[in-house]
Amino acid sequence: MKVSLKDLMTMAKPAAELRLKALCKIWEAKPINCFQCMRCTSGCTSLKLLELKPHEIVDLVKFGFIDELLASDIIWTCATCLKCKERCPQKASPYDLIMALRNVTVEQEAKVPEFYMNTVSQILETGLMQNVQKITTRTMEPLDREKLGLPKIALAGNKFKECLMKALGGA
Ligand code: SF4
Ligand code: SF4
Repeated sequence: MKVSLKDLMTMAKPAAELRLKALCKIWEAKPINCFQCMRCTSGCTSLKLLELKPHEIVDLVKFGFIDELLASDIIWTCATCLKCKERCPQKASPYDLIMALRNVTVEQEAKVPEFYMNTVSQILETGLMQNVQKITTRTMEPLDREKLGLPKIALAGNKFKECLMKALGGA
């Protein structure tokens, strides 16, 4: 059974040390500046697809629901488009806040959602976020790149993997 953010909040227990560590990391995103104008949410790319509400994330952080956010899939649905950072009149940054929360999650070896890890594996293997897709015409005919006269996409080789692992500090 999927546990919602609301469920997690009702189960909240004090975790002062964890919150302090996470708060130090996310301080640069200036959540304290937020006055809940919702400009970030009104322009959020993922809101349309996933109902991610950046202003609520900022508010939850301000109220100390850090560990609940770390345990939630919601921080992994951000498309990293940076619009919220651009739109914020208070120079708060939901984007930076979400990235800090993700980093804390990984540091603490907490659960990263499977869909996200699959994307990371896909990038490592091929250099692409997703497999090359076919399109379907109005007459329901599937067309691949070859049929469309488009060049084949070169997949990433070992050099790319080496560079990526190096950039990630894994090599
Ligand atoms: S745009 Fe900035 S001030 Fe407005 S709700 Fe979002 S984070 Fe808060
Ligand atoms: S960076 Fe993430 S939270 Fe901010 S607007 Fe884009 S998708 Fe929404």
